[in-house]
This record gives sequence, structure tokens and C-alpha cells, in this order.
Amino acid sequence: MTQLPPRRSEGGPFRLGVIGDPVAHSLSPALHQPALDQLGIAAVYERWHTKAADLASRVESVRDPEILGASVTVPHKIAVMSLIDEVSPVARRAGAVNTIVNRRGALFGDNTDIYGFGVTVSDVLGERAPQVAVVLGAGGAARAVVLALEAAGVAEIIVANRDDERARQLAQDLHPAPVRAMRLDEEFLMRELPRTELLVNATSLGWHPGETPIALPRLDLLPAGAVVADLTYRDTDLLLAAQARGLKTTDGLPMLVHQGVRAFEMWTGSPAPVETMLAAASAARANART
Ligand code: NDP
Repeated sequence: MTQLPPRRSEGGPFRLGVIGDPVAHSLSPALHQPALDQLGIAAVYERWHTKAADLASRVESVRDPEILGASVTVPHKIAVMSLIDEVSPVARRAGAVNTIVNRRGALFGDNTDIYGFGVTVSDVLGERAPQVAVVLGAGGAARAVVLALEAAGVAEIIVANRDDERARQLAQDLHPAPVRAMRLDEEFLMRELPRTELLVNATSLGWHPGETPIALPRLDLLPAGAVVADLTYRDTDLLLAAQARGLKTTDGLPMLVHQGVRAFEMWTGSPAPVETMLAAASAARANART
């Protein structure tokens, strides 16, 4: 059970922010500010653009009493672990921290991406955990996905990566999660996709039109009823092709929102207004496209 700080509906003004490089396009301010405002919490959520050389001083500044905590994004999720006082067991296992909570000057780090993907999976799959899930990619996001799938009770998680050594390292680090590591190639797709119930794109491919982690005709190999999830928070070519084949899909926006929900509750001690955050994130995404 996550320990909540005292409620912050009184006092302030407080500050929060996202630490990363770059942060100019982060949706986090758009996600959190309306939620803070709705709950009457006197806090402002800022963008804290931080180069690697400035990370230690930036993290140190989070100890200030007026700061409730911070989100951590690319490329600092690993480096912050050695700069804070306590890391949750699940974040330690994932090897990454995406949320820092200021507990009276002591910094606690957690990984709420795991929770975020877990909610996404149960929303799209219901209570029934798939037997076989394939995760494309073996980076930090793939680690969070694997831990969420393990918690959901998925029996077999196949991690396929261009660099298969990285997939093997992931399997070793996340032991005893039921992970099989594979090289992402044609042979793998032909063999494993026909029995895949959930396919997750956790590679960084998908932001730009024409970018796909697998050749789109290979989606024909999936069984009817398979679900395709993409961590990219837009309609990727992969998702559009899956939808055209009648497959159920989900993009990365619910994961982004629900990781934010968990972080918000840790910072403020109050239940997050989830619907407000979902609507705010969708609106911010739509605006970002125009
Ligand atoms: P990493 O840089 O840690 O990992 C990138 C992964 O993509 C690696 O597995 C890499 O393979 C693979 N990849 C990159 N280029 C190619 C290519 N040309 N062909 C095949 N594979 C490739 O990134 P993250 O894990 O941090 O993030 C991955 C994605 O997830 C990003 O798009 C990110 O925005 C998204 N994300 C979304 C979140 C959300 O809330 N929706 C949360 C976190 C991340 P290799 O090892 O072989 O290089």
C-alpha cells in the first residue's frame, strides 16, 4: 500500500514540475494543472527543463518545502535513482523512477508507469488476463509493461527486440517474471503471432507516419480477438492497421493519464479527478496536432 502524504488542500502555494530534456512538448502540465485547480489545491505544475549536468541540483531543489514532488521523464528516469533517499521496491525492480515525492525534505521515488499500463490493460481486456502477450521493444517502457503484465497474471510474456541481447538482459533483470526473450525478426513473427492474445508496441517507433515496429501485413497472423496496444499516444500506423483488421486497440494516452493519476495522489494525498485528467490529456493531444 502506497503511503500517502498529508492532504494538501490547505496551505501553499506549492509547486510541482516535470524534470526532463526536452520537456517543451510534455503533456504533464496539461494533465495535472486542471486536476489541482478542480480540487482547490494551491499549486502550479511547471516544466523543469534539466540537462544531465544539472540533474543533481534540480533534484536537490525538490526538497524545498514548497515543492510537493516531480515527474521524471526521458532521459533521467535511471539517473535520478541514485540522487534520492528511498526507491519503492517496484521502481527498484523496474530500474527506473518516474515520480518523486517530497516527504518533508526526504525524497521518495516510485514508478507509476507500471500502474498506468496495468489500468490500460484491465480497461481493454477486462478481468481476463491473456495467456500469451508479446512486447515489442526492451527499453525502459517495456520493463514497466512487463511488470504490469506480470501483476495482471499473464502466463507467458515474450519480449522481442531488435537487439536480442537487450531483451535477454531484461528477462534476467525482471526474473522471476515469466519472460521469454527473442530477436524481433520474421521468423519470430511467423511463429509467435498466431498465438498472441495481446501485442504491445513498446518501441520508440510510431510517432511519425510510416514508422512501424513490424511490417503491417504481419498483423494478419494474429488470432481474431487479439488486442493491439501502442505506448505512443497517437493513432499510429500500427493501430490504424489493426483497427482496419477489426482488432481491438488502445494507444498510450490512458497509460500516460493513469501514471499521472497515481503520481497526483502520492503528491497531494487526495483522490485524483480521473475523468478531468483524461479529458484534459485528450484536449492537449488534439491541440498539439493543430
Ligand atoms: P528506450 O529508448 O528505452 O527504448 C526504445 C526501444 O525501441 C528499444 O527496444 C529499441 O530497440 C526500440 N527501437 C528504437 N528504434 C528502433 C528501430 N528502428 N527498429 C526496431 N526497434 C527500435 O525508450 P522507452 O522504452 O523509454 O520508450 C519507448 C516508447 O514508449 C517511446 O515512444 C515513449 O514515448 C513511449 N512511452 C510511453 C509512455 C506512456 O505513458 N504512454 C510511458 C513511457 C514511454 P534496440 O534496443 O534494439 O535499440
